[in-house]
Amino acid sequence: MKNFNFHSASNIKEATKLVSSRSTFLAGGMTLIPAIKLGLAAYSDIINIKNIKNLSGIKATSKSLKIGATTKHAEVSLSNVVKKIIPSLSDLAEGIGDPQVRNRGTIGGSIANNDPAADYPSACLALNAKIYTNKRKISSDKFFKDMFETDLKKGELIELVDFSIPEKSCYAKFPNPASRYAIVGVYVAKFKDEVRVAITGVESCVFRCKKLEDALSSNFSPSAIDSVNISSKGFNSDIHASAEYRAHIIKVMAKKAISSC
Ligand SMILES: Cc1cc2nc3c(=O)[nH]c(=O)nc-3n(C[C@H](O)[C@H](O)[C@H](O)COP(=O)(O)OP(=O)(O)OC[C@H]3O[C@@H](n4cnc5c(N)ncnc54)[C@H](O)[C@@H]3O)c2cc1C
Repeated sequence: MKNFNFHSASNIKEATKLVSSRSTFLAGGMTLIPAIKLGLAAYSDIINIKNIKNLSGIKATSKSLKIGATTKHAEVSLSNVVKKIIPSLSDLAEGIGDPQVRNRGTIGGSIANNDPAADYPSACLALNAKIYTNKRKISSDKFFKDMFETDLKKGELIELVDFSIPEKSCYAKFPNPASRYAIVGVYVAKFKDEVRVAITGVESCVFRCKKLEDALSSNFSPSAIDSVNISSKGFNSDIHASAEYRAHIIKVMAKKAISSC
């Protein structure tokens, strides 16, 4: 159904009041609009959240970096605050899609959509992000459930993503040459008391790789993962890459990320 009521909310209360069983939020529209045009999704009401002022913006504290849900990828990639505090996050945003996508797409839209090959979900997991909605705080370990599925309930609105600041971190992506989505993306983050490694593009949902985390916890260097065996069982196999190839590329990208940290 391509007929719908269009609403533009000016604040969070107004947006959530408009929620109904067949409504959806519209942020950058980079996924939602194609899905509607292709007949993959249909809604009675579309609630535009882009005009809600306090949903956008970047703020650093001594412990974390807070990014508002409707902050665009281009804003994250160009932000001097992000470049200074978590440069890997700015690099990740710079590598998303193309300039048009980066100037429309938002961080909230990206993680709400939870595409299995999207970049931001790996940043959330590796940087131990907390996702704040209009109802609650969700840890990233619990947020990403499965392909295009998150812990969000109907009508729950992401307000901001709060990233922990690591000692060092890096994201290495082997991109699809056309869309720039990850065929394999590996985000490595070293904190004082733990190393977190998140992988995207490889399974139906982003995941943490415990084997790599354990190897890097005792020795944070590329050679530490030489003996780690990554099994391709359950990995995606498609026209872009076989499961075995993805398993191989995980270590290549992980080493690239660790040596660039
Ligand atoms: C050609 C192309 C190339 C791309 N390449 C990449 C890439 O390389 N890497 C990558 O990671 N991504 C890529 N993307 C995805 C893009 O970057 C967007 O992040 C993504 O499409 C969704 O963000 P959006 O703001 O456009 O959300 P929308 O399309 O507006 O919304 C997507 C979904 O999220 C929901 N939603 C949006 N905001 C919120 C919120 N605040 N709270 C709750 N729900 C919300 C909507 O209701 C909808 O269901 C690409 C997209 C295109 C079209």
